[in-house]
Amino acid sequence: MDEILRDLPQRAKEKHSGNKKFFAKLKKRPPKDLDYTMQELHDAEFERTDCLTCANCCKTTGPLFTNVDINRISKHFRMKPSQFIDEYLRVDEENDYVLQNVPCSFLGADNYCSIYEVRPKACREFPHTDRKRFQQITNLTLKNVAICPAAYNIVEEMKKSIKF
Ligand code: SF4
Ligand code: SF4
Repeated sequence: MDEILRDLPQRAKEKHSGNKKFFAKLKKRPPKDLDYTMQELHDAEFERTDCLTCANCCKTTGPLFTNVDINRISKHFRMKPSQFIDEYLRVDEENDYVLQNVPCSFLGADNYCSIYEVRPKACREFPHTDRKRFQQITNLTLKNVAICPAAYNIVEEMKKSIKF
């Protein structure tokens, strides 16, 4: 996995323009069964990929925290939401709460998440490749393929299976 993660940004860069063109077509003419196709491709990829050998999302980017996330996680720590924010979060350029530091403070050396049961919604859903109306998050996916080897593979499979 180390080698895959090391080479991923360069491989994603090489695919960027092709992916951009493909996603432009996808947005214009999303196939009727796109939700179904994405679910299939997502499930097949995550049969092969073990996130516990990777954790690159937790190490390099981290999630956005909604107010609901903050309330749930601070309750878990028996902290006030404001204390939790002061200790772990900052506001980014888009006015969202994000981690002060990466790797995420809740990531263990064994790649387990110490707040797995109450983790942010964005962590549960990353890399969003089984999302309904996937054509709406292609710009985000263009970035995620450089972070997440599973997202990279899913996009490669999409290009093989969806023809315009
Ligand atoms: S979601 Fe992607 S980046 Fe995160 S651990 Fe799994 S394979 Fe790695
Ligand atoms: S909260 Fe857990 S799943 Fe989310 S980035 Fe941190 S370690 Fe990863």
